Amino acid sequence: MQIIDNYNFAGKKAIVRVDFNVPLDAQFKVTDDNRIRGALHTIRKILDDGGSAILMSHLGRPKTGPEDKFSLRHVIPVLSDHLGIEVQFADDCIGKQAEEKSAALKPGQVLLLENLRFYTAENKVKTAEEQAATKEFAKKLSTYADVYVNDAFGTAHRAHASTAVIAEFFPEDARMFGFLINKELDAMDKVLKDSASPFTAIMGGAKVSDKIQVIENLLDQVDNLIIAGGMTYTFIKAQGGEIGNSLCEEDKLEMALEVIKKAEEKNVKLVLPVDQVLADDFNNDANTENAPIMEGKPGYMGLDIGEKTIALFSDVIMNSKTILWNGPAGVFEMPSFQKGTVSIAKAIAASTAEGAFSLVGGGDSVAAVNKFGLSDKVSYVSTGGGAMLEYIEGKELPGVKAIRG
Ligand code: AMP
Repeated sequence: MQIIDNYNFAGKKAIVRVDFNVPLDAQFKVTDDNRIRGALHTIRKILDDGGSAILMSHLGRPKTGPEDKFSLRHVIPVLSDHLGIEVQFADDCIGKQAEEKSAALKPGQVLLLENLRFYTAENKVKTAEEQAATKEFAKKLSTYADVYVNDAFGTAHRAHASTAVIAEFFPEDARMFGFLINKELDAMDKVLKDSASPFTAIMGGAKVSDKIQVIENLLDQVDNLIIAGGMTYTFIKAQGGEIGNSLCEEDKLEMALEVIKKAEEKNVKLVLPVDQVLADDFNNDANTENAPIMEGKPGYMGLDIGEKTIALFSDVIMNSKTILWNGPAGVFEMPSFQKGTVSIAKAIAASTAEGAFSLVGGGDSVAAVNKFGLSDKVSYVSTGGGAMLEYIEGKELPGVKAIRG
């Protein structure tokens, strides 16, 4: 495996898998350029060394081939602006134009290829035929460059053409991670392999079934496991509490009891909410009241944690040295039910200020720290929700394996 810091890109063409899957408004203007900024370090290193960069990415989920609303052309103004050069564009990621433009690329120049997912060969990899097509597609992309750099952590858990398969067409010393993936892996390894105690994981969000693997894996690592959000109620019902209309996965009640038992066996302090904000409707203007967590009401649903829980969670968080947070504590999209999530974010920020290492990941918790302006007050915000969860589950990420071997 090659290390980007050690590599000299002078005179080389690098094909870089970036994650430019950015949100666009109705006029196709980029509304959040975080992911573009995330790739700049790697691109600048290539250009500063005297190399050239061919960038490839997906954008959205096109189903039926090219569609203007999914065109990567829309990111060019922002990217050119950040780099201070005019970025070139190939309006098809493979084919004659892409070949000619990459062949003509000079040191210091950047070429962006059109959305990879306009071809199903990028990501349809189930059948043997699809896999062969993907390999063929990856091979074509590989011919444009001398080196392969993967800097798209958000898709590292996918065994797609551009994220994994392409690596095999480059010699070992000409494939590497970009700076962004390196940072992501360092942050996660710090939490999973080198954590200072007490280590607290906060798992929130809607469904326990989505996160059960992660929870089980974390039970071997953490001192405290805080459960919050909609998934709480499966645990409460399993223990005989009244949950009214709160979210619940009836088929996961046994599993919830198992988690409680395993936590006890492994000496992990499982911290569940003790009170909640009940609402008579899934609506910001619903009538609300506070209730103990075991005492929901028929016709009501719990949409946020209550004040006592906020105090309890904050205390645990403040006494932690390593913190991992994934998933909101309530329906934070509605102002009436955001207090629990804001409070967790603030407690993590305060604990970080006192020296704890904090990693926040997963679409909604990242959206929450951004919304509350706290993203620079935590140690690391992961750009890849799904990839982060799979890494924590203990799975090998195909995009990582393709390079590490
Ligand atoms: P996830 O994608 O599993 O992380 O879940 C995130 C979603 O869970 C957000 O859209 C929240 O609004 C939602 N959520 C969090 N707490 C609750 C709750 N108590 N009841 C219903 N939805 C919730």
